Amino acid sequence: MYDVIIIGSGPAGLTAAIYTGRAQLKTMVLEAVGIGGNAALTDQIDNFPGFPFGVDGSDLMDSFRKQAERFAVEIKMQEARELKKEKDGIRVITDQAEFLCRAVIIATGAKRRHLDVEGEESFLGRGVSYCATCDGAFFNGLSVAVVGGGDTAVKEAIHLSDIASQVYLIHRREGFRANQTALNKLREKKNVSFKLNRIVQKIEGNEYVTQLLLKEVNTKEQEILEVDGIFVSIGLVPDSSFFQEFIDTKDGYILTDTNMNTSQPGVFAAGDIVYKDYRQVATAVGDGAVAGIAVIDYLQE
Ligand SMILES: Cc1cc2nc3c(=O)[nH]c(=O)nc-3n(C[C@H](O)[C@H](O)[C@H](O)COP(=O)(O)OP(=O)(O)OC[C@H]3O[C@@H](n4cnc5c(N)ncnc54)[C@H](O)[C@@H]3O)c2cc1C
Repeated sequence: MYDVIIIGSGPAGLTAAIYTGRAQLKTMVLEAVGIGGNAALTDQIDNFPGFPFGVDGSDLMDSFRKQAERFAVEIKMQEARELKKEKDGIRVITDQAEFLCRAVIIATGAKRRHLDVEGEESFLGRGVSYCATCDGAFFNGLSVAVVGGGDTAVKEAIHLSDIASQVYLIHRREGFRANQTALNKLREKKNVSFKLNRIVQKIEGNEYVTQLLLKEVNTKEQEILEVDGIFVSIGLVPDSSFFQEFIDTKDGYILTDTNMNTSQPGVFAAGDIVYKDYRQVATAVGDGAVAGIAVIDYLQE
């Protein structure tokens, strides 16, 4: 029997684990994909306090992991598939085992949204990617497109402009939601072209991606854009399938009170999976700390 099982090892999950582990609660973190979550996939994090010159996301998350392990937190590479309320606790069912615990913290973050166009699935890993930091190096000297108009899309385009020979930023509108400083930096890059008011209709190729079919949203004119890769960066979707029946959600995100309690007693949530406006490493860490302390109080009562 664990005191607390934390689902997800991103900034929210590992912060909660540091708090509960340090309070000597028997703590386990379950991780389905890679320790550190989305933050570990970011090459440079400039806005997390304490690092005046920025920090590599994977190094930062490695420190979170080491700090949690110092407090005897167990980390298991397993995917949580189901939660069940039982008389003596909560049962967490994974792809490999079942565990019983007294409290659960859901910190499963959010995944990249897909374009849902022809060719996206079939060329995944053969020119289609959702992470420039992870896959950018494969496109050294090649031509790539980034799709999106937010901070992440602009950041990814900047990152890729140092690797690829040519970067196209495709955005369905004229204006950007992205931070102006980052946008100005991107505009200064000689090998970046903007394809505005355009959507991707189809991804085509042979073994690998060779071209995109674009449509101008006003004139409806179609255009072929020859590229070797496409990075989709159009936002996030919550990872909510396994608990949607069990706790109250809105648009797939978990509804919590200010102490990160969900609608199910003993079940807490933290980080990007929570229904809120701002999703950052610092906000995930804040949520994780609150959830950790709230679990300590809940188990003492
Ligand atoms: C490309 C990119 C750049 C970013 N840049 C910045 C930045 O510069 N500054 C900043 O502050 N923020 C940045 N962010 C946002 C930041 O990464 C997130 O806000 C933060 O990682 C959220 O933390 P989290 O712990 O809530 O979720 P995540 O980091 O998403 O971690 C969730 C973890 O849960 C795991 N998981 C999901 N479902 C299950 C399951 N069923 N069972 C087990 N494990 C599961 C996932 O595999 C994942 O590892 C960026 C995000 C992206 C995608």
